[in-house]
Amino acid sequence: MTSPEPSKRSSRLLIIDDDPLIRLLACERLGIDGFEVFEADGGIAGIAAFSEVQPDLVLLDVEMPGMNGFEVCQAIRATPSGSHVPILILTGRDDVPSIERAYGTGATDFVAKPLNWLILAHRIRYMLRASESFIEVRSQQVRLDDVQQHARLGSWEIDLRTGLLKPSIAFRSLFGLGGEDDLLFVEKVLDLVHPEDRAALESAGFQALSNRDGFSLEHRIVGRDGSVRIVHSQARVRTGNEDEVLALEGFTQDITDRRRTEEEIRFLAFSDSLTGLANRVAFKLHLESAVQRSARMRGILAVLFLDVDQFKRVNDTFGHTAGDRLLRMVSEKLSRIIHECSTVPRSSNGEPDALIARLGGDEFTILLERLTHPSDAGVIAERVIEALACPAWIEGHEVRITASIGIAVWPHDGADAETLLRNADSAMYHAKELGRANFQYYRRELNSHALERLELEANLSRAIQEDCLEVHFQPKLEIATGKIAGCEALVRWQDSRRGSVAPSTFVPLAEASGLILGLGESVLRNACLGARTWQRNGHADFRLAVNLSPAQIKDDRLIDTIDEVLRETEFDPSLIEFEITESALIQDEDRTLAALHKLRERGCRISLDDFGTGYSSLSNLKRFPVDTLKIDRSFVSGIGVCPADEAITAAILAMAQNLGVRVVAEGIETDKQFQFLADRKCDEVQGFLISRPLDVTTFGIFLDEHNR
Ligand code: C2E
Ligand code: MG
Ligand code: MG
Repeated sequence: MTSPEPSKRSSRLLIIDDDPLIRLLACERLGIDGFEVFEADGGIAGIAAFSEVQPDLVLLDVEMPGMNGFEVCQAIRATPSGSHVPILILTGRDDVPSIERAYGTGATDFVAKPLNWLILAHRIRYMLRASESFIEVRSQQVRLDDVQQHARLGSWEIDLRTGLLKPSIAFRSLFGLGGEDDLLFVEKVLDLVHPEDRAALESAGFQALSNRDGFSLEHRIVGRDGSVRIVHSQARVRTGNEDEVLALEGFTQDITDRRRTEEEIRFLAFSDSLTGLANRVAFKLHLESAVQRSARMRGILAVLFLDVDQFKRVNDTFGHTAGDRLLRMVSEKLSRIIHECSTVPRSSNGEPDALIARLGGDEFTILLERLTHPSDAGVIAERVIEALACPAWIEGHEVRITASIGIAVWPHDGADAETLLRNADSAMYHAKELGRANFQYYRRELNSHALERLELEANLSRAIQEDCLEVHFQPKLEIATGKIAGCEALVRWQDSRRGSVAPSTFVPLAEASGLILGLGESVLRNACLGARTWQRNGHADFRLAVNLSPAQIKDDRLIDTIDEVLRETEFDPSLIEFEITESALIQDEDRTLAALHKLRERGCRISLDDFGTGYSSLSNLKRFPVDTLKIDRSFVSGIGVCPADEAITAAILAMAQNLGVRVVAEGIETDKQFQFLADRKCDEVQGFLISRPLDVTTFGIFLDEHNR
């Protein structure tokens, strides 16, 4: 037995045959061809020799006494090393049933006796080469699976003709799929994609198919245990010879850990390690994009630059640890104030639209976006100063912290982040010069506006506390009967210094500062008391309308307060109507809807105020329990002047009548307007034409005269 390639082990053949001549010839002839040949004279000996020799190929006779070739083949296949070894069955010529049976028991191929040794040697070499390739492919597959598992990267292929997905082992484990099926329905895999990401993934897939390219997408998957992981899927379309689309194939990799690490790095790079607030870098980046946003949306943006007064003294007296604690305390207080202050605009999820940062040392900044007026920034600065001024305990000592704040407002005080920050800083120095514990605008003239507003707010607060607000009543005329069917209560305030202040000035101020809750309660009580007297004086079913502001609707105590006032004043809830603007409806829909239903349960009515100026969505009328709709004055005033306003008014009336909602037109001042509305079956009108808002006594007289 010689070997043509000394470096390579010669291939081992095992011949199992009871015919000694065949065995002899095999050893002789195949030995010459460079094979190392082992022999066994029967089935049992053959199986033993197989496990001892571990041959590369087996030549197996079918007809043998005792165990026949099929049984031997089966037995070899059942051993771990025998599952893939090539087995060549030696059969009689044309023995078709044997050939079929041989394949059935796991044989690789067959040759018919008598054997042509020359051809057989070639055949064996070919089978060995095929087997080697097979082993190589298999080991590569195992290696690939290992690598995929390690990289948490699974490959997959969707056969578009069957719609079935063929996953790799790593893909299965990534998606937490058992090894039960080789092929899966695509739906089954899509079910594991996060519900919010599924549509995007499906559409990326469809687009890739229609464009015959691929996609690359980050999305989430939800494990069977509910755990969420972030993955990156990449795919391409495979086409056939005729350019027909055959399959979509790709990879999906788990990148959760990478994303988490990135987030941690970002957090470390962009946050202040002492307080956890944003740091200087983060603040500047935010400010830059906020400036761009404000430029697009024409909003007001302000930067508050805060410096803790005499921080150095705390640091020097009590040491750095105490200083650090103080800074952390300031940061917590700032976060709380910004969260609680109703002047700070909110984003759609109700969170404050503000960013607080520590620039370093005792310097903090606050970025405020979408302010309604520059003076809002002053109100917020004032709240911050007030809240910080409460005494704090450091190392057993009472410390009074104060802060100086500088304010820069975009766009007047700087068109870019850099300038705004610098000017806010310089305004802060001005505040320090003025004796600390105050705020200053970069533009001096804004200071007086802000102070004025703060003074007005303080006076209003006092007026509410001392019950100095008055309520006036404006009648509503029912067109069909010509009677005054009800009235709207409107708040009035006489400030000691300024005289009469318009509700359009102080109601928004009360809303921003939280004073509206006290104001609203006072108006409701006084209005009920007034209307109650007229009801007792012969106008039994006279109705009262009271305005509710968005802040009141959001207040958890609203219903309790209303119940209490109605009980106290013995007012019949079915004779009261609450006027709500559309914008209030949609601010916190669930809560608003719950509040409105509770009011309805008590028999109160709901009226949609200023209709046409807000979102004016018909769906609001269907979704929310609305009894009445008030057409805004701006449309009514266009009647007889502006055809568009007339058309809108007519359309609102027609639509409301279809929906069975009553309509009140507000602000009617002329007979022409009255006639137009009467012709179109408007239910009620309110406006100077009927009467201006009147104080309680005058209204009583008006009512007696009119409804006599
Ligand atoms: P609103 O609820 O739409 O009230 C109607 C406003 O139109 C009143 O202004 C009323 O005086 C005015 N008005 C009525 N008829 C005419 C007219 O023919 N021509 C003109 N030019 N104006 C007319 P007012 O009293 O200044 O109130 C303004 C807004 O302030 C109210 O609008 C309401 O949104 C708010 N408001 C007033 N009182 C209260 C209140 O007690 N609580 C709340 N939350 N808001 C109130
Ligand atoms: Mg109103
Ligand atoms: Mg109105």
